[in-house]
Amino acid sequence: MVVVITGAARGIGRAIAYEFGGAGASIVVDYAHSQAAAEQLVADLKQHGAPDAIAVQADVADAEQAAMLIAMCVERFGRIDVLVNNAGITADHSMKNMTVEEWDRVIRVDLNSCFYTVKAALPWFVKQLSGAVINISSFVGQEGNFGQANYSAAKAGILGFTKTAALEFARYNVTVNAVCPGFIETDMYEHIPENAREAILKRIPLGRIGKVEEVARLVRYLVEDGQYITGQALSINGGIYM
Ligand code: NAD
Repeated sequence: MVVVITGAARGIGRAIAYEFGGAGASIVVDYAHSQAAAEQLVADLKQHGAPDAIAVQADVADAEQAAMLIAMCVERFGRIDVLVNNAGITADHSMKNMTVEEWDRVIRVDLNSCFYTVKAALPWFVKQLSGAVINISSFVGQEGNFGQANYSAAKAGILGFTKTAALEFARYNVTVNAVCPGFIETDMYEHIPENAREAILKRIPLGRIGKVEEVARLVRYLVEDGQYITGQALSINGGIYM
């Protein structure tokens, strides 16, 4: 199995790489800037059971670079079985203060990238008559969040995109699903101020933050046991949004 993961050098993306690599998949680690972390991950993956792994620098907010990422995968491995659209950023401000640049940047990275990578992978999925796409959305795309108009719009957009892609690709035996994490222990979460984190914990019925490994296991479950699951948004959020 060949798995491409965007923004895989750290956080949830890295955990997904370990999850699939440890299960014997070959991994394409996409990164934007963190070359050292991506190369370290490739070395670790090979030690942890991945038959092969490569790091590819591609800013997936750029259509040409996204297409190059898929091309590099196919050049090296001859196929693409799983595409995980994980790359994401935030640029938070309430709408009073959010700039057009912040709006555009988050939509480009978090939403447009999904179209660019999927568009590039589609001819290969069609040829293979198989494939699975997992788009990492967020509970913020379902619920909205103060100060995140750009991010919530992008993550909600992913849900519509996922359903349409699932409809269009089903005839090729390709599934497309979204995963909507709640608060997960990563750099993104670490950047939230301490007092805000305490308030967040009080809102989570299960009373804790999620682990990257928990998200990664759900992604692998969807791919390996979820052949009859498509067009869905699976929440993994401790109950913060039901
Ligand atoms: P993170 O910031 O640790 O990782 C995101 C990765 O994406 C980084 O490696 C970053 O370099 C990469 N990236 C950013 N822009 C890119 C681009 N243009 N091209 C290629 N790579 C790019 O964040 P994370 O918490 O691991 O988040 C991973 C995904 O999960 C994101 O889509 C995020 O929105 C989503 N998510 C995270 C949480 C959370 O609590 N951490 C909750 C819900 C959803």
